[in-house]
Amino acid sequence: MKLSTKITVSLLLGIIAGIILNLFFPSIIPGLDQYVLSPVGKIFLRGIQFIVVPIVFTSLIVGFTSIKNSEKVGRLTWRLLSLYIVTNLVALVVGMATAAILKPGNSVSNIGELSTQKAAQGQGILDWLVSIVPTNPFESFSTGNLLQIIFTAILIIVGIRLVGEKANPFVSFVKSFHEIIGKITSVVMKFSPIGVFALISSVIATQGLELVQKLVMYIVGLILAVVIMIFVYFLFLTFMKISPVRFWKSFLPAFGIAFGTSSSNAALPVAIENAQGPFKMKKEIASFAISLGTALKRDGACIMQGFNALFIAQLFDVELTPTLIVSVMISTVIVSFSTAGVPGAGIIMMSTVLTAAGLPLEGIAIVAGVDRLTEGFRTLLNVLGNTANAAMLDKWENKEVESAN
Ligand code: ASP
Repeated sequence: MKLSTKITVSLLLGIIAGIILNLFFPSIIPGLDQYVLSPVGKIFLRGIQFIVVPIVFTSLIVGFTSIKNSEKVGRLTWRLLSLYIVTNLVALVVGMATAAILKPGNSVSNIGELSTQKAAQGQGILDWLVSIVPTNPFESFSTGNLLQIIFTAILIIVGIRLVGEKANPFVSFVKSFHEIIGKITSVVMKFSPIGVFALISSVIATQGLELVQKLVMYIVGLILAVVIMIFVYFLFLTFMKISPVRFWKSFLPAFGIAFGTSSSNAALPVAIENAQGPFKMKKEIASFAISLGTALKRDGACIMQGFNALFIAQLFDVELTPTLIVSVMISTVIVSFSTAGVPGAGIIMMSTVLTAAGLPLEGIAIVAGVDRLTEGFRTLLNVLGNTANAAMLDKWENKEVESAN
């Protein structure tokens, strides 16, 4: 069986096992989750997180040192960021339109009973921008701060160019390290079917069904918006003459990991491997675009923040004025860039959007209870959006080379 098939099958089995446990064996869930499912899932997650920092750093150095023309780095960055802005806005509109049409907030009664979790506070936008520049690169590595690591890698690449031949031993060392990490990735991925089974069955088994029933329209609406956006991406790919079927098949392992772990960061090593292997993306574009996208590109977060804001406005009977809608749109796009690729990141950023739009922060507590159920879907979209944008950038570059010849 291919790895992508194994991951898909174990995700399905994990969902079925979670539902059966939740419905028929609630008494054994706490013990089973504490001693088996959670530890197994966490070991896998930690194993894959182990690879993220070295893979980002070494792939960027290997990819970018192979680019001879330094203007190209700037061009790739601007092209990618402009693709991000356009697709983020589309995702946001899809999320808000789905909430406006389905009106999930109007179907909920007894708001008071729903409050289950405390709202956490997100980081301010300006602070986030400033924090991209690391004061200590070793700290960036040890804390796994992706944007800071990318910043550090780019500075080192500039240094390598300036030093010239004397930098060759360092570049050879990084290349060799990159090969080793690639092999470790394949070893860890052998355990992915067990890991995603444990993670997904734990999430589903431990859900409180009463809360799920109350918020069913919210959950269904959000998942529907994610599915619509996936089809929009397929249209974008078709427009760029990239086969959506080939794209889906090539990146299926990365999507499976994203769905199972709810972490874009965890899917990163596999996404880079899928891009360079089955998808045949250019090495430097795969390493650069997918690393940057893992730090910045969150279509799922755009959908979720836009959808949530309208849901909360409906729930608390807040009138949708043009100012409110524009505030939600601007803050969502900005906040999506600073949402980390780890489980639970989106919900932390929600306070920034709600505050910007003047919506009640109590709304966060209401949706937090079911966030883990929809998070896998939006993380899958985050990774799909990231890899689709990288594929479009790759095509854009190739087209230019073809027309120049
Ligand atoms: N868990 C998501 C991710 O890793 C982020 C989010 O919460 O929206 O991409």
